[in-house]
Amino acid sequence: MHELVIRNGTLVSPLSVVSADVGIDGERIAAVGPSLRGGREIDATGLLLFPGLIDAHVHMALPVAGTRSSDDFLSGTQAAACGGVTTIVDFTVGAPERSIPQAIEARLAEAAASVVDYALHGEVVGWRSGRQSEFRDAIELGVSSFKFYTTYAESGRRTEPREMVAAFRELAGLGALALVHAEDEGLIRSIAARLTDEERGRMRTLAAARPDLAEQAAVSQATGAARTSGCSVHIVHVSSQIGLDAVRSARSDGVSVTAETCPQYLLLTSSVYDREDGHLFSASPPLRTDRDRDALWAAIRSRDIDYLATDHCPFTRAQKMWRGSFLDLPYGLPGVETLLPLVYTEGVTRGRLHLTDLARILSESPAKRLGIHPRKGALDVGSDADIVLYDPNGESRVSAQMLHSRTDFSPYEGRTVSGRVAATLSRGEVVYEKGRITASPGRGRPVRTEVHRSSR
Ligand SMILES: [Zn+2]
Repeated sequence: MHELVIRNGTLVSPLSVVSADVGIDGERIAAVGPSLRGGREIDATGLLLFPGLIDAHVHMALPVAGTRSSDDFLSGTQAAACGGVTTIVDFTVGAPERSIPQAIEARLAEAAASVVDYALHGEVVGWRSGRQSEFRDAIELGVSSFKFYTTYAESGRRTEPREMVAAFRELAGLGALALVHAEDEGLIRSIAARLTDEERGRMRTLAAARPDLAEQAAVSQATGAARTSGCSVHIVHVSSQIGLDAVRSARSDGVSVTAETCPQYLLLTSSVYDREDGHLFSASPPLRTDRDRDALWAAIRSRDIDYLATDHCPFTRAQKMWRGSFLDLPYGLPGVETLLPLVYTEGVTRGRLHLTDLARILSESPAKRLGIHPRKGALDVGSDADIVLYDPNGESRVSAQMLHSRTDFSPYEGRTVSGRVAATLSRGEVVYEKGRITASPGRGRPVRTEVHRSSR
């Protein structure tokens, strides 16, 4: 007899889809098999059970462009729970005068309001040598992945190529992971310098101002630094076919490189920039073409893309108000709550992906990369009882009004999705069920990442 049993569900793992019951004792999965009995039981007949999703790229309350992304850790993780995401990975907020360990302490304090579990990547702001000990101290605090920028020199975030190699050498020695936002600064600057007022005044220009060529060049540079230093590197939000080609070519050269893409790059194209509300879709990298979308879907199937993450960074319509230039907008889109329904619909029901792919790209693969598997990202005995119950029946329309993120628009407004999240469990506790958030603020816990344990 278990404390809780989820009965008659269809369990989806990266390897199989099977009917079974799941027995839960305390916070962990205690048994998977037929005919389990529990003190409490949840009937999951007709429902799919996925391992709780890990969204390894979100930005709650991110200070940027004179404002803050509109979800704090409470509203953002409530939206996550509603979407079946049971672990988020956010970022520290770096600053030249603040060490990475200081930034971790500050960010963990903000994240304490979370209703699901959370981990952090360390944001590296304009790396300079002499700060090596910060990596070691960060790892001791449970943060073992560090994000670098090849762009955003104007806000001081860019790390020079030569400094990047030096930093990567340190990380290689520590068995830590480098994350890279890959857009080539030089190319973006040279384009920006030639823009006319008329071009700056059109949203459509964003796609040309941060072109796929900039992604390709920066992926090549970052993976080159990884090759020289022996460091493992992960390219965040790959958006283009030629960016993907650069990832592939590095991998075939033996570089330890993984890649993620995001739902917006799979589902949307730069054609939305021509809409009257096109400015709401400001993001970097920008949205691309149908050809890029097709290449990204194919790369998920071929495993050249390792996992999906949302880059959830919501702003309200007011925050994104059009002021006459695409350069004056905060960049980022909401997405944590719509991840599973959209990928289920566009992936599985459209025949692009198998159910098993979802368990891999939304749970297992990010958990492995961050060294938190099989505690997270698996439906195995001993794993945390982080489970999504997904009802594949029926259809609904996405609307910002129905979503829990603190913003008043969705990039997917009006889109039809198949199925819905019926319930979400985090460490054995029902945190969302039938439209209601049942988790209390602050119940989420920090998760230490241990990248040296990871494997691709
Ligand atoms: Zn991001």
